[in-house]
Amino acid sequence: MKPPLFRYLVPETLAEARQMLSAHVGSAKIIAGGQSLIPMMNFRVVQPGVVIDIGRLLELETLTQDSQGGLICGARMRHNAMIESPLAATGWPIIPQALRHVAHLAIRNRGTIGGSLAHADPAAEWALLAVLLEAELTLSSVRGDRRVAANDFFLGPLTTDLQEDEMIIQVRFPALPKGHRAVFQEVSRRPGDFAMAACAVILDFDGQQIRSARVGLMGVMDRAFRLTDLESALRGQRPSDQLIRECSADICGDMDLMNDRQASAQFRRHLARSLVARCLAEASDLHGTSGGQSHAATH
Ligand SMILES: Cc1cc2nc3c(=O)[nH]c(=O)nc-3n(C[C@H](O)[C@H](O)[C@H](O)COP(=O)(O)OP(=O)(O)OC[C@H]3O[C@@H](n4cnc5c(N)ncnc54)[C@H](O)[C@@H]3O)c2cc1C
Repeated sequence: MKPPLFRYLVPETLAEARQMLSAHVGSAKIIAGGQSLIPMMNFRVVQPGVVIDIGRLLELETLTQDSQGGLICGARMRHNAMIESPLAATGWPIIPQALRHVAHLAIRNRGTIGGSLAHADPAAEWALLAVLLEAELTLSSVRGDRRVAANDFFLGPLTTDLQEDEMIIQVRFPALPKGHRAVFQEVSRRPGDFAMAACAVILDFDGQQIRSARVGLMGVMDRAFRLTDLESALRGQRPSDQLIRECSADICGDMDLMNDRQASAQFRRHLARSLVARCLAEASDLHGTSGGQSHAATH
């Protein structure tokens, strides 16, 4: 399949990119890694009249730390560059853990954080990471820049708060507590497939008690989300098999889960509960399996 005809524009500066988006509102699409856009164009799911290639905007390929210790990630950072980043591995190890599950090497070499977040697939690892890590996205247009919390950015499957004249230029991940334990697990039919369900957990301990907990799921609903009731229930507790069994028993009980060719809602509910229990046990090192920053893959 070949895409329909389109105009191909290559801005040299960010200002030029913003101008181009503004001049072609409604018909323009940014292209970053092209790993989702090109297949969608080939299948006529989207038919942009203008494609704006941001490949020359090197300022969107930077990875730095700000004065508050936050990780500032340019929108064109590739999945693989993040997997290989010593900065991410040191302060946000859940990022490389999760991104190793994105598709295959060729796709991870091309795909970008900005493209993945803008695409907003309900089973995208970047979306779960953004929600779990309380990321803040900077959206830019000729009207100015605005910042949006990841939790407010995702509105549904393939739907975000991004306006037609806006582009993502940067994503900020606040610092995590030193010594936290992070675990990511997902279940997919084959390695590289989109997940049927995935869970990410970050636990911070005060001695043997959980000081704070973050638990996120993706692939089971129309967008990634945090289990905030569970997080509150875990706070101040000393992890045990019984606690984890009790806490994970009712997860997603009254939620309307996705039901599609990949997996039934009932199976997704089972996966969500199993993955949460397994991630919590591993992050708590209950069975001596975790160095605190390990990950497990289940295919
Ligand atoms: C076979 C296959 C398997 C895959 N498996 C997975 C998987 O398991 N997990 C996963 O997370 N992903 C998976 N993907 C998707 C992959 O991660 C893509 O890289 C990602 O979704 C899109 O990133 P991109 O940079 O290629 O964006 P593009 O394809 O270039 O763009 C995607 C969308 O985002 C918009 N866009 C891009 N950059 C910006 C920006 N800076 N600001 C505003 N809008 C922007 C584009 O206009 C387009 O609408 C898979 C893809 C394929 C082809």
